[in-house]
Amino acid sequence: MKCPRPILWCISLIALAASSAAATAPDFTLQKIGSGVWAGISSDTGKAFANAGFVVGDNGVVVIDTFQDPEPAKALLAEIRKITSLPIRFVVNSHYHIDHVNGNDVFAAAGATIVAHRNVRSWMRSENLKFWDEPIAADVKARVQSLTLPDVVYDDRIDLYLGTRVLEVRYYPGHTGGDSVVIVPDANVVFCGDLLWKNHYPNLIDATTASWVDTLNALQANYGSATFVPGHGELASAGDVSAFRQYLVDLRAAVNRVQEQGKSGSALVDAVLPGLRAGREKWAFFDDYAKDDILQTAEELSGHKRIPAPAAPSR
Ligand SMILES: [Zn+2]
Repeated sequence: MKCPRPILWCISLIALAASSAAATAPDFTLQKIGSGVWAGISSDTGKAFANAGFVVGDNGVVVIDTFQDPEPAKALLAEIRKITSLPIRFVVNSHYHIDHVNGNDVFAAAGATIVAHRNVRSWMRSENLKFWDEPIAADVKARVQSLTLPDVVYDDRIDLYLGTRVLEVRYYPGHTGGDSVVIVPDANVVFCGDLLWKNHYPNLIDATTASWVDTLNALQANYGSATFVPGHGELASAGDVSAFRQYLVDLRAAVNRVQEQGKSGSALVDAVLPGLRAGREKWAFFDDYAKDDILQTAEELSGHKRIPAPAAPSR
């Protein structure tokens, strides 16, 4: 398997963390998007890599995602401490991919209870290994296999209360099969994790694009006036949700059309890629994901795609 760039970053970053490098300036930008609601918007090349955020309530803080590396997670904790001394009560992992969970240990050490969809706990220490080519370096393997797991898991929905303030954590299918959206109703903010990418080609390695399109329709219908925090890219609006959904719709249609012409592999990629890029020339991660998006969607449409097996639900 070809390693996408984000995960290659992890290799050096894990080594860096292991050497207990001193904290440096954060490579994310904190943006206040409501009363007590903050988004940490990351660059595509820094150690944080994926977006995060936090919500301050009456009696504590909820953090949404913990970056790709413990070092920016420590920086985020330091930024929270400049704003409030209230305890970090919960972390929500939007999904299991390592660029959203590798700072979990920082917040667990600060006392947080980590909450996620049931499949996140099942997949975090195993499925993340597929992002490296074999043989996997021993320190990388050890790190992945000791990632701090969720303490609390849910199947469909869970509400987190910070005194009078509620955060609604909701399962939506499409990106991995274990993704959470975190809604802050009193601020009209929706943290989407990697169910939403703004002006970025997405990672579809675990995706089921058919249900993902339905999810994006639901998010737009249910929260059309909200501020959306994507997993990658700048703050988003309903228009950005629509633009991202259109990418998946276009991708599925183009792949299906070319498959019906009997093409596969590189011939299929060559036939689909130019049309897919048209109008999206400025989207990031083209080199990282666009070709894989086509091939993985071809696997999905032909019924051959391997996606992670769900954990058994509770009874
Ligand atoms: Zn991500």
